[in-house]
Amino acid sequence: MSRVAYVNGQYVPHKDAAVHIEDRGYQFADGVYEVCEVLNRQIVDMPRHLERLGRSLSELRIEWPLARKAVEYVLKETIRRNKVTNGLVYIQVTRGVARRDHFFPSADVAPSIVVTARNTSRAAADLQAEKGIAVVTYPENRWPRVDIKTVALLPNVLAKQNAKENGGKEAWYVDTDGNITEGGSTNAWIVTRDGVLVTRPAESGILRGITRAVVLDLVEREGIKFEERAFSLEEALEAREAFVTAASTLVMPVVKIDTAIIGNGHPGSIATSLRQLFHTATDLQVV
Ligand code: PLP
Repeated sequence: MSRVAYVNGQYVPHKDAAVHIEDRGYQFADGVYEVCEVLNRQIVDMPRHLERLGRSLSELRIEWPLARKAVEYVLKETIRRNKVTNGLVYIQVTRGVARRDHFFPSADVAPSIVVTARNTSRAAADLQAEKGIAVVTYPENRWPRVDIKTVALLPNVLAKQNAKENGGKEAWYVDTDGNITEGGSTNAWIVTRDGVLVTRPAESGILRGITRAVVLDLVEREGIKFEERAFSLEEALEAREAFVTAASTLVMPVVKIDTAIIGNGHPGSIATSLRQLFHTATDLQVV
């Protein structure tokens, strides 16, 4: 089956899909994005993702490229046309195409929108979750507005590549206070020696993950002991469990940080049960 992408009003073959060389996403990383999980032909937590997209757009003073209802339709249609059963749908909005100039273009320049969708292997992801992943720490070097989900991901690319070259699947940023902020494309969690689940508050230093928000709902529902506070690398190395969350990974256990084995080196019970329960707390909309 050939893949299809939605680009500025048209569904085009994925292999031919293109934006103009003067698109500001290409020239300045002047754009934002969202990624939603697709589960059994249902789109997971679309309202929350679109709400965050709206916030990212408004923080950068980019207009919605289409009415929100139309964006919902395009997301679903792109999933349908690509016959995605389990996978991901991606939306990117940039400030549009204009002659290269740092200043915003004139108001008549329309934002660009691209939507793609693809299948991913649930079996492979579940197998990975049974083993857990290694993370590799990296000095926090991103701008302070990591609350905006922008396509300016160069620091994330470099941190994740460093993780890969050192045997990890994800990077964990460590700030100048020695605290873990988040992963290169995930939020970071630990379970302390005393069995308390800890994640950093979303007020600064991290993206307010949608998966994180769902897990917080679950934690409350299940009555799991929980503290929302900064935690240090030192504390993480001593933790009973660690895990990361994102729409692309769901709840993914961490069994190694740099060279240190976490807990007994196997996925922890809290991470495992949160992964199993995850979709009982999500909003699922049939595509
Ligand atoms: N933090 C960063 C830097 C991310 O890029 C992502 C997802 O891409 C997340 C956290 C997790 O966010 P979500 O759960 O909404 O996918």
